[in-house]
Amino acid sequence: MARYTGPVCKLCRREGMKLFLKGDRCEGEKCAYTRRPYPPGQHGQARIKLSEYAVRLREKQKVRRVYGIVEKQFRRYYFEATRRKGRTGEEMLNLLESRLDNVVYRLGFSQTRAEARQVVKHNHILVNGKRLNIPSYVCKKNDKIEIREESRKIPGITLALAAFDKRAAISWVSLDKANFAGTFTGTFAREELNAVSIRENLIVEYYSR
Ligand code: SF4
Repeated sequence: MARYTGPVCKLCRREGMKLFLKGDRCEGEKCAYTRRPYPPGQHGQARIKLSEYAVRLREKQKVRRVYGIVEKQFRRYYFEATRRKGRTGEEMLNLLESRLDNVVYRLGFSQTRAEARQVVKHNHILVNGKRLNIPSYVCKKNDKIEIREESRKIPGITLALAAFDKRAAISWVSLDKANFAGTFTGTFAREELNAVSIRENLIVEYYSR
């Protein structure tokens, strides 16, 4: 299935919560979910009781939309997580957090993950000194991620970095703001992912049904 390119605010309204897909706008009064906190469409305001299956499906869709990943790839992360030691749900989140586009977002080089994906795809990123333009690259412990010298004046990147301090700190990345660089420390801690409530056990139940 192709990547979703439609209006992202509809996704928040569908999932019944803010997914923070639009950077600064999400904090302001213009947030579509704040103004219309019900699903889009003609029957959006109808009261519908979700089945057990639908609850699990919605949880999976929500996380998939937060990270901007297509179904096939998301399923692959789940199966990769089942092969790892530790809790499957947490391992899956760990894998999602290790993606290069996510790390670029966490480091503050972009305001959203969609923007981070573009930053990576447009060759603005060096990983351990080498150009890398694959958003799904899984970062390894102590990988050094930096913005290319030539790209450091791009307004989108400088604005995002200037706003970085407003973000909640995450322990698995460390930023060297002055040098447009950061390190992926790889120390994933589940309790730090609280901005959007995630019930990963429901996703595991969805795939293992
Ligand atoms: Fe749109 Fe952000 Fe509000 Fe979601 S949280 S509805 S993406 S403005």
